Amino acid sequence: MNAPRTLISGGLVLVENARFASLSLLIEDGRITDLVAGNGPEDAQVIDATGRIIIPGLVNGHTHSHGALGRGGVAEGATLETFLAGASALNGQRTVDDLQLSAELSAAEMIRKGCTACFDLSVELPGPSVAGIHAVAEAYHAAGMRAVVAPMISDRTIYQALPGLLEAFAPEMRRALAAITLPPWQESLATCKAAFAAWPVPMDRVRPGIGPAIPLHCSDDFLVACAQLAEATDLRLQTHLAETRMQQVAAWQRYGTTLTAHLDSLGVLSARFSGAHGVWLSADEAARLAGQGAGIVHNPLSNLRLGSGTAPLRALADAGVVLGIGTDASNTSDGQNMFEALRLAATLSRAGGDAPGTWIGALEAFRMATEGSARIMGLTQVGRIAPGWAADLLFLDRDYCHYVPLRDVLSQIVFAENGAALREVMIAGRMVFADNRVLTLDEPGLARRARAAAARLDAANADARVMAEAAATVVRSFCHAACAAASHP
Ligand SMILES: [Zn+2]
Repeated sequence: MNAPRTLISGGLVLVENARFASLSLLIEDGRITDLVAGNGPEDAQVIDATGRIIIPGLVNGHTHSHGALGRGGVAEGATLETFLAGASALNGQRTVDDLQLSAELSAAEMIRKGCTACFDLSVELPGPSVAGIHAVAEAYHAAGMRAVVAPMISDRTIYQALPGLLEAFAPEMRRALAAITLPPWQESLATCKAAFAAWPVPMDRVRPGIGPAIPLHCSDDFLVACAQLAEATDLRLQTHLAETRMQQVAAWQRYGTTLTAHLDSLGVLSARFSGAHGVWLSADEAARLAGQGAGIVHNPLSNLRLGSGTAPLRALADAGVVLGIGTDASNTSDGQNMFEALRLAATLSRAGGDAPGTWIGALEAFRMATEGSARIMGLTQVGRIAPGWAADLLFLDRDYCHYVPLRDVLSQIVFAENGAALREVMIAGRMVFADNRVLTLDEPGLARRARAAAARLDAANADARVMAEAAATVVRSFCHAACAAASHP
């Protein structure tokens, strides 16, 4: 007997990320097998999509599942560096169950907001464990999402990463902060390898990746070993690249060159490599990334929230860098809404008074948020509605105010949609969201567990939080002064 086929009929479909047409989609074995005008095969199960606009699922090129349990815990005036200084207060003392819960919360939010795949740099402190990595993979598997699960690893704290930072503290505090250490990188990487070798879920949708957190927070030998592992296992590697000006200033101090030139000299750049943020990249760095087929994931909301700046998206696109879009975590973006990130990618390109011809267009942004991010994740034939491509689909209500009246569908999606018109989500041919419910996860149960976990973790991390708040004042003024005094961009 043949596997059941599904015919999605009556919708207005975005074909090949290029044009809208009234067509039916034939789905088989998780993929789109045909686009049909008129009636499809008689044996297919029919989903009536009358009144729906059907687009490919949005692909989140950069997030952190651990952020879901940290929601609301980032101070209003936080910069990236003060946020990193408080990492143990936000992410410390977590059990394996907490890691899985946070990933399930994160997946539920992404599905609710139209995201069908994500690149997750999830952290476990003080270092990764096989059980923790597997718990995150199992969460995405249970949710029915596609994901690259890349344990975020480093071997230097921010106090070891930024030259001169420790010396800015009074002696007692300096001693306490200097005593914080991370596991040797060999240990972290061995744990990742063990976790990858015994991967607990099918690799077709949830696969491992490698996440050296920030180049300055990883010793050079460590970065090289990560790149070698990525090459040997054909896995994707993602790091935070030039997210803040402080990182570039510290790169000149530590390496005597830019972050990207340094990574290039180590042989870390490749088509498997992507950098999240890329706010402070020079033209030379863009050319180096493009030359190696590497990618950058634009995270506009997180960059605005933490005052990091605005990535030079047009310059990166013109240089030929592979571009994706991400939300960053639910703590630093205060949510994971790919529609918001998509809209900001298009609108922020207009904020600097540049000529209209240089703006990021609606279709250009939409492609970044779908097939662009998917390419960075190493997914093949994901992010487009076309024969052979994944049946990862969003169903928008054409009668919702964003589409009444309807003139330019894609423009109205990119510039108006925030997820409010989203009615159903399909991933690999399976409905995972309908009737305002995530069908694969117990959302009320997740909410109960999240409240209990947050109360327990906040109590367990109370001392760390006091220390982080005391450190933040010094970190903020140190970074401000270091950037003001720097002669390099
Ligand atoms: Zn990030």
